[in-house]
Amino acid sequence: MSHITEKGGGTFQGIKLLLCENPLPPIDQAIAAARSELPRSNYYTEPYSAPLRSLISEQLGISERLIHINAGSELILRQLFDRFGQQVHLLTPTYVLFPEIARHYTETRLSPEKDFAYDLADVVIPEGTTLTVIVNPNNPNGGVFDMASLPELLSRHPKTMFLIDEAFIGLAGKSVTHLVPKYPNLLVTRTLSKAHSLAGFRVGYGIFPEAVADDLNNRNDAYPLARPSQAAAIATLQNEERIQERASQLRLWTEELAVQLRTLGVRTFPTETYFFLADFSPHDASRIADQLRSRNILIKPLNDPVLGPGYMRITTALPEDNRRFIDALREVMSGA
Ligand code: PMP
Repeated sequence: MSHITEKGGGTFQGIKLLLCENPLPPIDQAIAAARSELPRSNYYTEPYSAPLRSLISEQLGISERLIHINAGSELILRQLFDRFGQQVHLLTPTYVLFPEIARHYTETRLSPEKDFAYDLADVVIPEGTTLTVIVNPNNPNGGVFDMASLPELLSRHPKTMFLIDEAFIGLAGKSVTHLVPKYPNLLVTRTLSKAHSLAGFRVGYGIFPEAVADDLNNRNDAYPLARPSQAAAIATLQNEERIQERASQLRLWTEELAVQLRTLGVRTFPTETYFFLADFSPHDASRIADQLRSRNILIKPLNDPVLGPGYMRITTALPEDNRRFIDALREVMSGA
């Protein structure tokens, strides 16, 4: 639990640019669908989230047998690390959970000089690696990897499992789920917490080789999702066009926010999602975050030992809140 270092969830009422949460609420159809399930909550849902599984299977063109659904993708990621994470290779900086739950890990550094981009064809995976993790689009910078060389990597390293965390794929990037049936060492995880605005409903899923999917499914709760969560997930996935429109809107707000930061002299890095990295050097990001917190604005210093103290990950809020954030930041940075 310690990777969540800030009070970010639940009751906080200020401006949050913190946990990579989508600032837009669930779409209306999701709320209506969840609400209509409430009076039926004395009954269990269909076992193994059957209707959701069948919709995902249909939309991705992947056999239901390869799909594992659970209450949020973090839970799924933890299970995969339990099973395969003896010796992990990470592309860092990465999602903060991973260094925390890997038993041992080695890393390939993504560098600010290259805007945190990386050609996967160049990745060197040390001997003995059991699990290589690629987050696409990556957290914390929001950039996408070109996945064209993935098949070659998968074939070249048959003894390492490759986990592609597609938590933010609804915002940008090319999915690799279609490769799962062809490669026994490819695992893909996804969540409806990000582009789909359902973080509080806790819906995650994975597309795995049959043996892995069978094992996780056999050991899983028969009812991993609450009725309202399953209904909200189905209603949201049935309105993917709306989700894509909202994703474009979010990317626009993100770009506008980055422009504002640059006018304050802050360096921002390219992103294709609704969050990005910013380098506040010579300012100290933790100090800025502390001062903003006292103004009821929550933001996340990166605390990466290699990048140093200037880095912050910034998630867009709604435009009005972004304006308040920039005003507060201007005051803080000018020492007011
Ligand atoms: N993967 C990445 C890259 C994330 O950033 C997050 C949450 N911030 C998750 C997985 C977990 O999301 P959830 O448990 O809500 O599905």
